[in-house]
Amino acid sequence: MPPPLELPTIQNWSCHNCGGCCQQHLIEITEAERQRIVEQHWETDAEVSRGRPWLVRLGWWPWSRRYRLGHQPNGACVFLDEQGYCRIHAKFGEEAKPLACRIYPYAFHPAGKKITVGLRFSCPSVAGNRGRPVSEQRHELKVLERLVVPESAAEMVPPPVTPGQSLDWSETLQIVASLERQIAEGTGGIVPRVIQALAFVELLGQARFDKIRGPRLREFLEIVAGAAASEAAALPEQPEPSAVGRMQFRLQCAQYARRDTLADCELGWANRWRLFRAAVRFTRGMGLAPPLQPAFVPVPFTELEPAFGPLPAAVDELLIRYLRVKIQSLHFCGRAYYDVPVVEGFQSLALVIPVVLFLARWLAVGAGRRQLTLDDVTRALNIADHHHGYSPAFGQLNFRARVRMLAQTQDISRLTAWYGR
Ligand code: SF4
Repeated sequence: MPPPLELPTIQNWSCHNCGGCCQQHLIEITEAERQRIVEQHWETDAEVSRGRPWLVRLGWWPWSRRYRLGHQPNGACVFLDEQGYCRIHAKFGEEAKPLACRIYPYAFHPAGKKITVGLRFSCPSVAGNRGRPVSEQRHELKVLERLVVPESAAEMVPPPVTPGQSLDWSETLQIVASLERQIAEGTGGIVPRVIQALAFVELLGQARFDKIRGPRLREFLEIVAGAAASEAAALPEQPEPSAVGRMQFRLQCAQYARRDTLADCELGWANRWRLFRAAVRFTRGMGLAPPLQPAFVPVPFTELEPAFGPLPAAVDELLIRYLRVKIQSLHFCGRAYYDVPVVEGFQSLALVIPVVLFLARWLAVGAGRRQLTLDDVTRALNIADHHHGYSPAFGQLNFRARVRMLAQTQDISRLTAWYGR
């Protein structure tokens, strides 16, 4: 009996052929996919074979069997046409495409006896909640799930709640559901809800779960939720972020603001030198913020700090939906996020909110505005979520240590309040 799918009921999605994913991702293909594309004979298509390879070997050693799809000079997939359509899809149908292209923007995560389905908000249609309700796409998703989820998924263990403290799947999912309620049922906009959820996971981080198993867990979670709500309500005004916290935060923002298409990576040392100089500027936080991709223009760091006014209600809706979909689908911890425990995974996810608000301010100031629009925040979320859980740098020890430090000093809450004002 295949495991049931748990779908995000608050999310819609259909592809609107913007071509965004085909311009950003490096698509590695399997040997069977390589063979299939070879047999499609693209050498006879003048639009594709303009003297550029459509399949590229990965690695410098001649016996490498790993391949990726080729790219156009601007970094877009070699099969992307001028209208934003995939040529393989147009000529041979959806099933002829590499699996990675068919899956995007969905993500499947084993969760004990079921599989949860998440979405990547790097896709503008996901962020914009555009298209058919995901809950009506069960049949198509089941087909994809069979292709991508291994049979051994049912044996996967749950992520630990904190380092060294693992519970069984039903207990772990109870904690995740309780965390999701902090965001879904909290009062006010995104800022107080994130602050309450951070207080909730901080209390979880102090718990000894060997004494709170089984029926006691529900009671414990209710007590922790009540304490987190009181703690968050007692702190209507967050203190300013600390100086060290701001510096560490800017470095995180620089990582999220990068664009790592193949065209960027192929610049080699020139790209590395550019990124190094940008990191120095972000550390100092003085002068102009260096544009890390064409979406940004140089603006003074100081212009990103004043109050921009209350967030529009549509921005609250977008960011609350983002956190809920990520939490419900376990798209923030364990196998889906560098094998980190639940508490640390949520702290990383919560940090995305001030990062997005910082990047959105950068876009707004670059356009000569001092107020955020839904479009600024949507574009910033597209940029940030492209990396979250997918760029290898985010799983490295220095990145994770920065998140833990910002959580310990309460700076994630402070930064959320600071950039949400
Ligand atoms: S980014 Fe989203 S809407 Fe755009 S082509 Fe890719 S899947 Fe479709």
